[in-house]
Amino acid sequence: MELRTAQQLIGGITVDGKWGPQSYRAIAFALRAPNLRTQLLDLKLTPHFTLREMIFSSNQMRDWATRNIPGTSQLQALVFLCDTILEPVRAKFGPVRVTSGFRIWTPSSQHGSGEAVDFEVPGVPNRTVAVWIRDTLPFDQLILEAWQPRDPNSGWIHASAKSGRTRRSVLHTPTGRAPYFSGLGPDS
Ligand SMILES: [Zn+2]
Repeated sequence: MELRTAQQLIGGITVDGKWGPQSYRAIAFALRAPNLRTQLLDLKLTPHFTLREMIFSSNQMRDWATRNIPGTSQLQALVFLCDTILEPVRAKFGPVRVTSGFRIWTPSSQHGSGEAVDFEVPGVPNRTVAVWIRDTLPFDQLILEAWQPRDPNSGWIHASAKSGRTRRSVLHTPTGRAPYFSGLGPDS
């Protein structure tokens, strides 16, 4: 669903197909209504990324579609994240598989504020994508997770973006959990 269609569906707000304070607020509010929420799962946050894929959980929260629902600031953060990280990665490497975006159950992580996403680009080694992000995009934190140099398909990328904050923290972990090490680690 295009943003313009969502603005029409909700009503009472400007129908311009653009994100702004009014749309973030109105759509976050509409997500609290079960019938609207079901329709809005297919809302495109940006041209290639839907709300559904940014709140989907494969195993950590079975009823994610009713409970893992962002509020206004989290929705705004997710749109910023898609614009800043995922759309440029897709434009460079092709379709992205998001494995975990917003996670309401980890409030202390950037996933809990809608600022972080875990993903892969099928067919492209995660380290290759991570190097490009490191050298190109205004990320906040970039972590190459569970990367095994001998297996180019191993692991995943955690990337965060936050308006006005670019720490450019770059880490890797061979396991996908602490301890984390500086930089992206060995490539072979
Ligand atoms: Zn993550």
